[in-house]
Amino acid sequence: MHSRLTPLVLAAFCLWPLTSLGASPTAVKRTVVASVDKHADELVDVSDKVWGYAETALREYKSSKLLADFAEAQGFTVTRNVSGMPTAFVAKFGAGRPIVGILGEYDALPGVSQKAQAEESPLVKGAAGHGCGHNLLGAASLGAALAIKEQIAAGKLHGTIIYFGTPAEEAVGGKTYMARDGVFNDVDVMFAWHPGDRSHADMLTGQAMVDLRIEFHGHAAHAAADPWNGRSALDGVEAFTHGVNLMREHMPLSSRVHYVISDGGDVPNVVPDHAAVWIWARDQKRSEVEKLYARLRKIADGAALMTETKVEVILQAGSWEVLTNDAGAKLLDANLRWIGTPTYTADEDAFARKIQTATNVPVVGMDRDIGALDEQVEEGGSTDVGDVSWIVPTLNLTVVTSPRDAPWHAWPVVATGGTSIGHKGLIVAAKTLAATMVDLFEKPQALRAVRAEFEKKRGSAVFKAYLPDGPPPLPKD
Ligand SMILES: [Zn+2]
Repeated sequence: MHSRLTPLVLAAFCLWPLTSLGASPTAVKRTVVASVDKHADELVDVSDKVWGYAETALREYKSSKLLADFAEAQGFTVTRNVSGMPTAFVAKFGAGRPIVGILGEYDALPGVSQKAQAEESPLVKGAAGHGCGHNLLGAASLGAALAIKEQIAAGKLHGTIIYFGTPAEEAVGGKTYMARDGVFNDVDVMFAWHPGDRSHADMLTGQAMVDLRIEFHGHAAHAAADPWNGRSALDGVEAFTHGVNLMREHMPLSSRVHYVISDGGDVPNVVPDHAAVWIWARDQKRSEVEKLYARLRKIADGAALMTETKVEVILQAGSWEVLTNDAGAKLLDANLRWIGTPTYTADEDAFARKIQTATNVPVVGMDRDIGALDEQVEEGGSTDVGDVSWIVPTLNLTVVTSPRDAPWHAWPVVATGGTSIGHKGLIVAAKTLAATMVDLFEKPQALRAVRAEFEKKRGSAVFKAYLPDGPPPLPKD
């Protein structure tokens, strides 16, 4: 086929960024990009403040208030305390369809506090830090929503824009509770993005997962005087983990199982009457996770039987894999190529290289490429964005905010997330998301294509949250 391409066709391919957008960007699209620039200082300020607060899951009080107050001040109608979570909120502007949503996150990770510098050094020893860049995530998503809001207010776009403030992505998954409660049900198309060490419109599914606590109950006894009167809950745990490790040989290569012993008894001279394992099972397909879940239950029952203990298998959380959307990814890809990845100063590149040297990864500086849609390699990990993607078509973007290959959930991400390297990624993300939203507002056929693909891929699957009954487990302190 390639040999049949005429020079004229080849020339058209070279114009890919413009031709793939259908035509040169519309006036509204140029205006939303300019709007992100207009608000850039405020968005960076919000991001830096959230970076400084560094609040962990369901404790994001200051961070969520800052974002919600900012949205309210800009004219959004804000609903706080959503799905039983004081740090979840919904900010809405406009009326009628299409209803375009965007997800924002703002939780930090425990123990990864770090200064905004290229040498490892905690800002506050032992404290939390934004090791996943969610300070940038929440602010950029709000920037995109604000740009669209202004065009709805000006009568240039018609419909509704909703920013979903979703807490606790790193722990129980705030979106899972919101999904269970139907918070996303009316949305026509959802946008999401995540900071990364490279840039692309996302075609990765990630992994579905279940999070279980396996509790064994035995009988306490003196471990030397009358051990025959005891039944050890720790024996149950050990039999269980042995069974899990025997199962590993017989699971698909795509599956992952990992655990910690969260309670192994108190002292050696008491036969433990209580012991517990905290275990996660994952696979790229939820159907395989279901099989692992069933097998883990059998192993737990077997371990209880042989140790004469009782066992409880408690579902704590979980998420579905991401349902990708090719039509939507192509729109994001075209807009990302139009906006372009950040340009960096020599100082910024040197900062990145210093981090790469310190973390023993190739010293290549910041990544400036845009990854192709069909060349993305699945890595391990799960996100509550997956749950949303089975309720509403979800278009997901990754934008570079951290040095290539530098460790994630670790100090380098905290460091760059508080510097101009992260800020530049924030701005590119906000612009790309807003520009792609404009496509869906202005071109009903584009929205129809995204929805049609979603309906086809979803088939008869009906979303059900992997959650215990009841409210989210709010921290007590
Ligand atoms: Zn994250």
